[in-house]
Amino acid sequence: LLAARTILHVDMDAFYASVEQLDHPEWRGRPVIVGADPAGGRGRGVVAACSYEARAFGIRSALPIGQAWRLCPEGVFVRPRFPRYAELSERVFAILRRYTDLVEPLSIDEAFVDLTGSVRLFGPAEEIGREVKHSLRAELGLPASVGVAPNKFLAKIASELGKPDGLVVVPVGGEGEFLKPLPLGRLWGVGPKTEAKLRGIGLRTIEDLARLSREELRAMLGDAGEHLWELARGIDRRPVEPDSAAKSVGAETTFEADTGDAELVRCTLLSLADRVASRLRAQGLVAGGVTLKFRDEDFRTVTRSAGLPRPTDLAEDLYAKALVLLARVGWKGKLVRLVGITAVRLSSRGQGTKGQLELFGPAADAERLRRLAGTVDEIRKRFGSSAISRAALVVRKNG
Ligand SMILES: [Mg+2]
Repeated sequence: LLAARTILHVDMDAFYASVEQLDHPEWRGRPVIVGADPAGGRGRGVVAACSYEARAFGIRSALPIGQAWRLCPEGVFVRPRFPRYAELSERVFAILRRYTDLVEPLSIDEAFVDLTGSVRLFGPAEEIGREVKHSLRAELGLPASVGVAPNKFLAKIASELGKPDGLVVVPVGGEGEFLKPLPLGRLWGVGPKTEAKLRGIGLRTIEDLARLSREELRAMLGDAGEHLWELARGIDRRPVEPDSAAKSVGAETTFEADTGDAELVRCTLLSLADRVASRLRAQGLVAGGVTLKFRDEDFRTVTRSAGLPRPTDLAEDLYAKALVLLARVGWKGKLVRLVGITAVRLSSRGQGTKGQLELFGPAADAERLRRLAGTVDEIRKRFGSSAISRAALVVRKNG
């Protein structure tokens, strides 16, 4: 049995836009849209963040700026000021760390906090949640939503449901009740495709899904099905992972022109995998999973993640998994605008994975590849990153 845990999920509301409204009082109460290239609503930029006043016009993050412009010409369109956001982000995290070091950043404005050991010192988690919200408002002038729950999955949903400016508590033992009425899309790992499949057999809510047996879900969706069986019951064992364990290493490319050339997309993925793997090796890290990011000509952005059979810092492994994920995206007939690869679930190399030397089989192959990759890194360090490129890339350039 799992010892009871208490997890806080803190998510700043419309963070960049809130910072702009904080620094420009004349913009408070107005639709504020933060994104690149606001001038005249032209260009390639997308909405990075928008205030709740802007959302009332149908504007959302990742919408092309031109479209946002047409929806709300009277809005305040501003360029992002990342250094300022980073500065406030640090102060947000400093407030969270008053209670514990177990703070796992998810992004610049979002974090999990494991309060399990803190409640004896600081009082009930709900009180801490209220205090955090109050401190963020009083000391920084920024609104946040907070979820309190027995695990990460539920805490994150709780804060989402509380938005904006909310505090939602999921009590121990109340996990099932809390999840029941929610749509299937709330479950992690249920993308539009899986959702369509589940809706196809008449499921609508998490309660519907929770009626299926582990075996039924496994037969339908494989490993993912088993995972969903647990999530539908509010079971999530992942620990809060502070600092480096939670970081990710990623790279992405926006094509000069949207492309339908599958070969170019694959080559780009290979070169991204190469860059990511090389950065992993430089930091002595291995990845336990890969996330593929994919944006098409209509700005539909999808991400697909998968675990790796064993932790790796090799481009070959990241690339092979990225191809599998790409196939899952199903982008036939669409032009591609952007692809990205992120190595996730990072750990230090040699942490548990070393030990005995394997001479044959996949592990030995991996070791040989790793040594080769190390040599490549060395040469690049000495002669620059263009000194060595992969055969597939070279073929592409010549052909
Ligand atoms: Mg946020």
